[in-house]
Amino acid sequence: MSARERGDGTSTGADDVGPERGTNAVDAVPVPGYGTGPAASTAAPEDRAGPGTDTAAASSVGELEHSEPVVVPTEHGTFSTIGWRVPVPSGVPAAEHLSLTAPPPPEEAHLPPLVRLHSECLTGDVLGSWRCDCGPQLHLAMERVARHGGAVLYLRNHEGRGIGLINKLRAYKLQDGGADTVDANTLLGLPAEARDYTAAGRILTAMGLTEIRLLSNNPDKVAKLEALGITVTQMVPHEVHARHENIDYLRTKRDRMHHHLTHLIPGENS
Ligand SMILES: [Zn+2]
Repeated sequence: MSARERGDGTSTGADDVGPERGTNAVDAVPVPGYGTGPAASTAAPEDRAGPGTDTAAASSVGELEHSEPVVVPTEHGTFSTIGWRVPVPSGVPAAEHLSLTAPPPPEEAHLPPLVRLHSECLTGDVLGSWRCDCGPQLHLAMERVARHGGAVLYLRNHEGRGIGLINKLRAYKLQDGGADTVDANTLLGLPAEARDYTAAGRILTAMGLTEIRLLSNNPDKVAKLEALGITVTQMVPHEVHARHENIDYLRTKRDRMHHHLTHLIPGENS
């Protein structure tokens, strides 16, 4: 069943949506199949943020803008897709992000939705670079969400864990000289981890996805989401096969960034 058949407000075509006309201030954008979350009500954000929910995520929902949902068919399945513009501190252009959602099959409708927060990676996602595992992780997330229901959030401005594209390539150059992922950033005077998940928390809240199962190997991501008012009931392992070209990168994620990567056995796969 398509999103249009579900009657969830799918646009009738690109011609009737101008650059600004398709953008709305957020009240709530419930995800089909998951329309029971607090943000799925039609109440104003301040009304639906009850006691104990006065978090950054809940209180900032009204500042978001979003496009109407449109159907995007892919090799992994058909998604309802929304573009989001999330305000950031003054002086910085607002970042635009993308959500891909799919309903659960009836037998899994009682489970919290699977959610993947995917950090933009031009080289991995678009070029298919083997220096990291971003591309395969994105496609695996789309496949799993299409099959089991939930959301993939494609988060912009997250290149190189938030240091930007040019700095990421500078770090690659240092890695070619022997530095690992963490040390390369340090040598550049940059943090090893600079990603901010405030936008993800706001978007999930707007979609009513405040209790989720997170597709991730990164406990730090769980902690950051929890701090934004998102309850993570389970961290679902999201591992892809290592390659010769990225085994050192993955080992650094395991050993220095505390990712749960159980398929990387020292001395193997490299
Ligand atoms: Zn990558």
